[in-house]
Amino acid sequence: MDADVAVVGVGSIGSLVLWELAGRGVDVIGFERHAPGHDRGGAGGETRLFRLAYSEGAPYIPLLRRARDLWLQLGEESGRRVFEPCGGLTIGAPRQQPILDLQANAAAEDVPIEVLSAGEMADRYPQHRLLDGEIGVFDAGAGMLRCDLAVLAAAQAAQARGARIVPYSSVESITPARDAVHIETADRTWRVRQVVIAAGAWSTQFLPERWASRVEPRRVAVGWYAPRDVAQYRPGAYPVVIRVTHDLFLYGTPTVDDATVKVGGTSQGLAIPDPNSFDRRHSREEIQVARDVVAELFTSLHPEPLRVDAFTDLYTPDQHPVLGHVGDDRRLVVATGGSGRGFKLAPAIAAAAADAVVDGTEAPITFMSPARRVSA
Ligand SMILES: Cc1cc2nc3c(=O)[nH]c(=O)nc-3n(C[C@H](O)[C@H](O)[C@H](O)COP(=O)(O)OP(=O)(O)OC[C@H]3O[C@@H](n4cnc5c(N)ncnc54)[C@H](O)[C@@H]3O)c2cc1C
Repeated sequence: MDADVAVVGVGSIGSLVLWELAGRGVDVIGFERHAPGHDRGGAGGETRLFRLAYSEGAPYIPLLRRARDLWLQLGEESGRRVFEPCGGLTIGAPRQQPILDLQANAAAEDVPIEVLSAGEMADRYPQHRLLDGEIGVFDAGAGMLRCDLAVLAAAQAAQARGARIVPYSSVESITPARDAVHIETADRTWRVRQVVIAAGAWSTQFLPERWASRVEPRRVAVGWYAPRDVAQYRPGAYPVVIRVTHDLFLYGTPTVDDATVKVGGTSQGLAIPDPNSFDRRHSREEIQVARDVVAELFTSLHPEPLRVDAFTDLYTPDQHPVLGHVGDDRRLVVATGGSGRGFKLAPAIAAAAADAVVDGTEAPITFMSPARRVSA
């Protein structure tokens, strides 16, 4: 045997699965097509939002609490500032469903939030131009994750705990055989007892038909804008933000380079047939829409994006991740399907994937179970 457990994909979730399993004394090896911390998958683009008050569902909140603790632990163990606890704002009209859900879920799970009127928003967060009747909801437990840095930190911390990582090594096939699960890479076959599939948008090729036909790799576009006064956009002054205005689900994070501010969600994610080949450039129309949105909703950003890019994620039909044993073989666990919002949860998903491997737990988080009912 080459290892007890192989992790296919050392990205957002895979790097943390390695960290978890190595911490539990498991002999684990990770395979990564590029090098951990690269910018071609779900963890590209420097920053991600972490939110504790979560409109997407109260059952997420205990997982988010666990994830937050683990992000802080990773920061301490690695000596890297992967989580910036700068708080978060959600802006929208008071009767909009995400704003109502956010408040209901926060109340159900005792997450402190603060509802801010337009006047209070103007005093505290003048960076945002509110439309008539809009409010802000402040979540002190929210913050900014440094995504590519976090993957690198998790991979290195996993290695320090004893995990092995094979970079620049693409897994071509995973074949459960009688003696072992065989993993084929360009130069050899590896034999392991169990496998965690954490290949993000590339996972389709390893999933059983029931899931492969239902998940969708997508391209998600973001842009970086120059602030008129960068001090307004540093973490102490500018919380991460979600904006449910018009039909948009806009998001933004503070500056990390002291020069630009990232804004995403000005366009919808697009299905892509092949995550290895898609256009990272933005169309003229995407740039035009982004420019109009930024000019309307921000008071002090130059609306021409200075930099644009696009990254991949794997979307499931119900937009809940997929986590647990897949197919008929109990030796295969899948942990991916972040659906545009999985980064914040990654350590909690990774810990549950480790439970599935070590304890054989069938569906560590029921609503993410591969056995759940999903429509195509
Ligand atoms: C632009 C954008 C913005 C987002 N914003 C947020 C946000 O603000 N908050 C939030 O919580 N979430 C957000 N998300 C979602 C989140 O980033 C993703 O859900 C998460 O990163 C996906 O993690 P993953 O481990 O499934 O995939 P990845 O991080 O892509 O990891 C998969 C890894 O597998 C490797 N790999 C693939 N195939 C193979 C193979 N055959 N052999 C070896 N290695 C392989 C890849 O190279 C990659 O490193 C965003 C996503 C995008 C794209």
